[in-house]
Amino acid sequence: MSMPQPDAPETMRQDVDWARVREDFPLLGRTVHGKSLVYLDSANTGQKPAAVIEAVDDFYRRHNANVSRAVHALGSEATEAYEGVRGKLARFLNVRADELVLCSGTTFAINLVAYSWALPRLQAGDTILVSRMEHHANIVPWQLVAQRTGATIRVAEIREDGTLDLDALRTAMTPDVKLLAVTHVSNVLGTVNPVREICREARRRGITTVVDGSQAVPHRAVDVAAIGCDFYAFTGHKMCGPTGTGALWARRELLATMPPFLGGGEMIREVSFEGTVFNDPPQKFEAGTPNIAGFIGLGAAVDYLQGIGMAHVEAREAELLAHLTGALDALDGVRIFGRAPEKAAVVSFLVEGAHAHDLATLLDLEGVAVRSGQHCAHPLLQFYGVAATCRASLAFYNTHAEIDAFVAALEKVRRLLG
Ligand code: PLP
Repeated sequence: MSMPQPDAPETMRQDVDWARVREDFPLLGRTVHGKSLVYLDSANTGQKPAAVIEAVDDFYRRHNANVSRAVHALGSEATEAYEGVRGKLARFLNVRADELVLCSGTTFAINLVAYSWALPRLQAGDTILVSRMEHHANIVPWQLVAQRTGATIRVAEIREDGTLDLDALRTAMTPDVKLLAVTHVSNVLGTVNPVREICREARRRGITTVVDGSQAVPHRAVDVAAIGCDFYAFTGHKMCGPTGTGALWARRELLATMPPFLGGGEMIREVSFEGTVFNDPPQKFEAGTPNIAGFIGLGAAVDYLQGIGMAHVEAREAELLAHLTGALDALDGVRIFGRAPEKAAVVSFLVEGAHAHDLATLLDLEGVAVRSGQHCAHPLLQFYGVAATCRASLAFYNTHAEIDAFVAALEKVRRLLG
């Protein structure tokens, strides 16, 4: 069985061969509309290296069985591999394996906190503080909680450059605030928020913190223990893993105080019609058959990222971001949204006189995949007073040549629209 494997060491080589790394991604070699694909939509979902694809394939070909149920050999292999991934993820994020609830991704993870932590605790008079730059997955669950409990939502505002206004945030942390929901990295602006400092302030005031790590975990080394939050959510498909995978981290003692979210198999110890004894966390929150093959793939993704080294990933993406930003700044009439000093490789932009959807559609014809629209962040776009933006989001597997090809395509498209 190809899984579980020992974790690859976090290498500190200075000489990552990025051209070879790129060859690990079969899809990146394809053409679109007769042009070489330039994939600049990794904030939406990341591409998968062959090691991940092969791990999923190998699981279904040779080891497929349900987990935590059957005593036969296949059942044991599947369970061992699946639980091995929990361990890999825990080491990757510097947390305990039994504090990671495996689930379908960030959306599920945040809803779990909303339903199991917030709903039973919050009431009228309480406030949920949410930053302006949140993805809808870190807004809508809190609105649902507010509707059902009578709690109020308060918005922590941002500045024009796309950074959080930390003074305003501190001021907004009044005694009625029970929960703070903030993203680690913005999926639209690329802003890297100082979540450690924010969580320290919140903790001092007894505010529970939920950090959305969807755009952080794929792009930098994340030490969840050091952040000091109460809940940390992330999603596997943006970090080279399969869709339908992700996790919620919370301290064991906190998980132990929360009622189950979904009921069913796996999350129980004993069931009778007189009453049910639930399993311990994290299994208490993992009802039903999980996305086993997906998690096997996610384990391979963690190995893969660690094989490169997250410090190298971050440095490579910073270099690509500087190239992309410089090239766009050199064009007339291009407006970039988000100029935070600490910024991940996401560039939202508009071109004067052109609609974002038209740009994205015409860029697609040139083989360039960018996202256009509101990026599941309507309140953020309202702040900037725009209906939509184009977003080019990079990953370590992109190249300088692709950035040049994108900029050339953008100039061509602009001429067509002009
Ligand atoms: N939060 C952020 C910042 C995101 O970028 C995304 C995905 O785009 C999500 C949450 C939702 O992730 P998922 O759809 O995998 O649950």
